[in-house]
Amino acid sequence: MSQTEVLNEILQKYHENKLSHAYLLETNNLNLALNDIKLLIKNLNCPENYQEKCCNCNLCNLINLENLPSLKIIEPDGANIKKKEIEDLKVSFSTKPIYSKYNIYIIKNAEKLNASSANAMLKFLEEPTPGILGFFLTTNKDIMIDTIKSRCQIYTLKYDDSSLESTLNISREIISTYISKIKLYLAAIYNQEFINHKTFLLNEFPNREDIENIFKIILAIYYQTFLKLNNLKYNEEIVSIYSLPEDKEKIQEKMQIISQILTNMSYNVSIELILDKFVIEMRGSHE
Ligand SMILES: [Zn+2]
Repeated sequence: MSQTEVLNEILQKYHENKLSHAYLLETNNLNLALNDIKLLIKNLNCPENYQEKCCNCNLCNLINLENLPSLKIIEPDGANIKKKEIEDLKVSFSTKPIYSKYNIYIIKNAEKLNASSANAMLKFLEEPTPGILGFFLTTNKDIMIDTIKSRCQIYTLKYDDSSLESTLNISREIISTYISKIKLYLAAIYNQEFINHKTFLLNEFPNREDIENIFKIILAIYYQTFLKLNNLKYNEEIVSIYSLPEDKEKIQEKMQIISQILTNMSYNVSIELILDKFVIEMRGSHE
């Protein structure tokens, strides 16, 4: 099953009123899996009938900010997940959720529940309280404690390693906000259209981190196209973001320019200077 099929199946079970009280999800990418579970939780709870971009509802915002009282995300503090965390969880979930249908906990790196925290957790699983839903996330279910495993429904969330989400380690939702801008940006560079950097990217994406992500995606487009032109395994989704009008050598030259830009970004060079340099060099190299 693909990760989308898994999430849809859980959603389907919800609509049929057949949700398990706990799910164990084994994944090759914890951050993406966490993002997808948040997306699922929005789907379960959003009063606005959650669609890709429900930004106006309070509940979805609180989920994004990990500030929803009925959602607890527990991560290991150092080598393991402390028993106290589990006990605190029990206390805060002893009352019914106010803003959402479920009290939901997510245990990230669930294989790091040590014997005493796993014992505390078991009480939760042995006498499931209606209205509480749990997700255990792990990269390796084989090293998880059996008594927990046996009480969960188990799925695998496998992410394609060459996908943009895996490469950038950010969610599809955020990536989709960049894509249309990237298409326009590359088209303007190739067509020698005037670009005002202060407005073109920076008005919409004033953060250095966003600009860096945008350049990482641009580099991925060139790299995957390069693989394609060399008859190697490539990612069709990334290649199709923008079809580059060039040959292997030109693409390789440009990959070097973009890599250099990303290096500059990691130093304290001004963004506007970097954007200027990028357009000049990209245009220069295809004349
Ligand atoms: Zn919403």
